[in-house]
Amino acid sequence: MMKKDLQNKNNVVVTIDENSGFCFGVVNAISKAEESLHSEDNLYCLGDIVHNSQEQERLSQLGLRVITHKDLTTIHNAKILLRAHGEPPETYRIAQENANFIIDASCPVVLRLQKKIKQAFESNPDAQIVIYGKIGHAEVNGLVGQTRGKAVVVENEQDAEKLDFTKDIVLFSQTTKSLEGFNKLIQFIKERMQKPASLVYYDTICRQVANRVVRIRRFASNFDLVLFVGDKKSSNGKVLFEECCKVNNNVHFISSAQDVDKSFLKNVKTIGICGATSTPKWLMEDVAKEIYLKMEDLNK
Ligand code: SF4
Repeated sequence: MMKKDLQNKNNVVVTIDENSGFCFGVVNAISKAEESLHSEDNLYCLGDIVHNSQEQERLSQLGLRVITHKDLTTIHNAKILLRAHGEPPETYRIAQENANFIIDASCPVVLRLQKKIKQAFESNPDAQIVIYGKIGHAEVNGLVGQTRGKAVVVENEQDAEKLDFTKDIVLFSQTTKSLEGFNKLIQFIKERMQKPASLVYYDTICRQVANRVVRIRRFASNFDLVLFVGDKKSSNGKVLFEECCKVNNNVHFISSAQDVDKSFLKNVKTIGICGATSTPKWLMEDVAKEIYLKMEDLNK
């Protein structure tokens, strides 16, 4: 579970959680961007490549420029990276019409899900394709696009009330939703289905993130102090930070190494550093280095 145990002369042990940080989909998208930026001065990325402003800044220094879907129609003959969330068919069409070259960094897990939804839609056009996910989220837009915009997105049971329970339902989930919420939704729909209509559901939640709650709780319970590194804008960061707080009453949310305050470090012997799915490893390592510098200051 723990990747890096570093011990300084004050016998303080700092451990970085090996399960925190980017999932493989994001790692893959960032390495594709870096690879392209080796040979190009500029690369466009459709939307934020990751919800972390420090990492965005690092990539922007290398030449990555974030654009919106609206910009797609005004950019021509350029290279455009599609991030891990995936895109609807419409995006590929517009890019082609404007002679843009796509670097497709869509996560393979998301691409498989898109394919599955497309097949379900085409093989049973009368069924309601339902996606448990966040309305307007980039991944969800890409999934809905596989059904020519016909899939219904439900965020909760209240949204699900509006489904037609006399018609077949094929239910999928956005990859980053919680298993608990998905199982509840299945139960909710099952109880309302009216024969002969049927419910078919597919658990399409990505295990790269589904297991993080349990793992981070286990990690955070082991230390005198936990520093949670994340971006205030990251919703996944908020959730995981709260999980740490449930098992440890000495947890601080920080966004960079500069946020490490000397007062945090008094009277602690073990320190755990962890973060969100959008937190880069280098940022957690910077925090570890800063802890040692501050520790030395404290002991002067
Ligand atoms: S599907 Fe899983 S691995 Fe792929 S981008 Fe989403 S969370 Fe990451």
